[in-house]
Amino acid sequence: MDKQPFWKTKNLQEMNKSEWEALCDGCGKCCMLKLEDADSGEIYYTDVGCKLLDCDSCRCQHYNERKTLVPDCVILAADRLDALHWMPETCAYRLLNEGHELPNWHPLVTGSTDSTNLSGNSVSGQVVSEASVSEADILNHIRKW
Ligand code: SF4
Ligand code: SF4
Repeated sequence: MDKQPFWKTKNLQEMNKSEWEALCDGCGKCCMLKLEDADSGEIYYTDVGCKLLDCDSCRCQHYNERKTLVPDCVILAADRLDALHWMPETCAYRLLNEGHELPNWHPLVTGSTDSTNLSGNSVSGQVVSEASVSEADILNHIRKW
């Protein structure tokens, strides 16, 4: 009988560090600036990347120091799943936590680290850095990912 992959047999709290890290598909969507409606609490994503995001590779340029350099950066952890409800709908952590399967383009499913980008599910090449957008212009950058 085929052995089931870890994401089908373990919940998020049961995963070890390498399994947890492997779940991230590298889409970069969670590194987009977000706006919150003060009345409804609704969160709106933009196509404006955090100042530390490399907008081509979708990687944080200072991953180990991210919380120091960007205090608002949310670091997901198994004991901090409360932040998942506003993560992008395609986020692997959110999907599994809500009882869904990983999408067929996820690198763990395809076996290829390029599949997020090749399937059009990363922000690569579709975003600008916050350094190039004024505060007054941010509403023009709302985007549903
Ligand atoms: S949205 Fe989720 S899967 Fe995508 S980069 Fe962020 S943590 Fe990783
Ligand atoms: S600090 Fe890094 S991980 Fe955090 S939002 Fe910015 S680019 Fe993303």
